[in-house]
Amino acid sequence: MPQLTKSAELFEKAKKFIPGGVNSPVRAFKSVGGTPVYMAKGSGAYLTDVDGNSYLDYVGSWGPFILGSMHPRITAALEYTLKNIGTSFGTPIEMEIEIAELLCKIVPSLEMVRMVNSGTEATMSAVRLARGYTGRDKIIKFEGCYHGHGDSFLIKAGSGALTLGAPDSPGVTKGTAMDTLNATYNDIDSVKLLVGENKGQIAAIIIEPVAGNTGVIPAKPGFLAALRELCTQEGIVLIFDEVMCGFRVALGGAQSLYGVTPDLTTMGKIIGGGLPVGAFGGKREIMERVAPLGDVYQAGTLSGNPLALTAGLETLKILIDENPYPELERKAVILEAGFSDNLKKLGLNYVQNRVGSMSCLFFTETPVVDYSTAVTADTKKHGKYFHSMLDQGIYLAPSQFEAMFISFMHTDEDLEKTIKANYNALVASGK
Ligand SMILES: *Cc1c(COP(=O)(O)O)cnc(C)c1O
Repeated sequence: MPQLTKSAELFEKAKKFIPGGVNSPVRAFKSVGGTPVYMAKGSGAYLTDVDGNSYLDYVGSWGPFILGSMHPRITAALEYTLKNIGTSFGTPIEMEIEIAELLCKIVPSLEMVRMVNSGTEATMSAVRLARGYTGRDKIIKFEGCYHGHGDSFLIKAGSGALTLGAPDSPGVTKGTAMDTLNATYNDIDSVKLLVGENKGQIAAIIIEPVAGNTGVIPAKPGFLAALRELCTQEGIVLIFDEVMCGFRVALGGAQSLYGVTPDLTTMGKIIGGGLPVGAFGGKREIMERVAPLGDVYQAGTLSGNPLALTAGLETLKILIDENPYPELERKAVILEAGFSDNLKKLGLNYVQNRVGSMSCLFFTETPVVDYSTAVTADTKKHGKYFHSMLDQGIYLAPSQFEAMFISFMHTDEDLEKTIKANYNALVASGK
């Protein structure tokens, strides 16, 4: 069992100066209990904490590290930029054109792109753009989908998926909440009902085409295509939030995997290669409304800064050169099959959802297709499972409702080790 003495000390100190001791709530271990682990170093698929314990990393900085931490090509590119270019100019630089052009080549629906600094900025800006473009105020999102911490997205479904939203957080005004409607993931009728009740008032429908913030929930066959058809009919801007699944489930994102073309796409995580980057883009006609070409305002002091773009560009180039996706799929299948075997041996029927290298083991026997089925999971059991995995040197996201990410750097031995730990952790989590 790893000693976490120094992590515990640091956490106590951090709580004096940082709310909850962390700069993002998911890091605080609130839903699994215990003290967050302070990491000191990342390398490939491994993390080392401040007490010298080593862990196999399945969080990957919450998504970006599809190539593991400190990939030598990315590190070298960053060193080059630091030495020869600089950290920021606040002027246009050539690299911005290079990444925009590359993104338009890789992601099917992109004709123009704007770089920002986070996924949250990307989704906020995309929704503003959709509102400006359509002249409408309301948006539809899906219960359980996360689109960053913009006010418009912090709305849950209230008593049912078809009621008007109530703010999820103090500080979000009622007016903002009123403009966000919640539909049920994988249920096209729930969307049609909302559109029918709000004829001509919906600016955008925003969705994670692979839901990754309620565990992992794949879109059912035909669901995304039906959304596309509805949006086209009603003049609604369809936004795929690919901040997590973009460049993860396929080089061209979920839209290339499922063959459905959104009007706008939001990106983040992998596109920054571990540095703070986001982007939004899509149809030329809509993107031409973005300032300074158009009238919808959007800006950023550090947007397109050389270091962040270097990490993103190099990541994309490696993904193109090495095409890791078949290998990621092979690894993900090994892990999934290993976990299935363990479950069978123990007479457990827990659900596993997976799309490519993002997966989730839900502590429920109910098939998970949306938010309400996801929350049937036993989070107490998950907490015990999480801590047993941690004790065995496997670092998972400290929540039942997060994805497990495999990187190109996980070896077959790493996977074997994880499958063994999974068996022990399932035993520890109890019947
Ligand atoms: C992580 C995430 C965001 C927010 O991105 P940040 O960079 O944390 O602001 C938005 N949408 C989805 C789907 C995400 O997974």
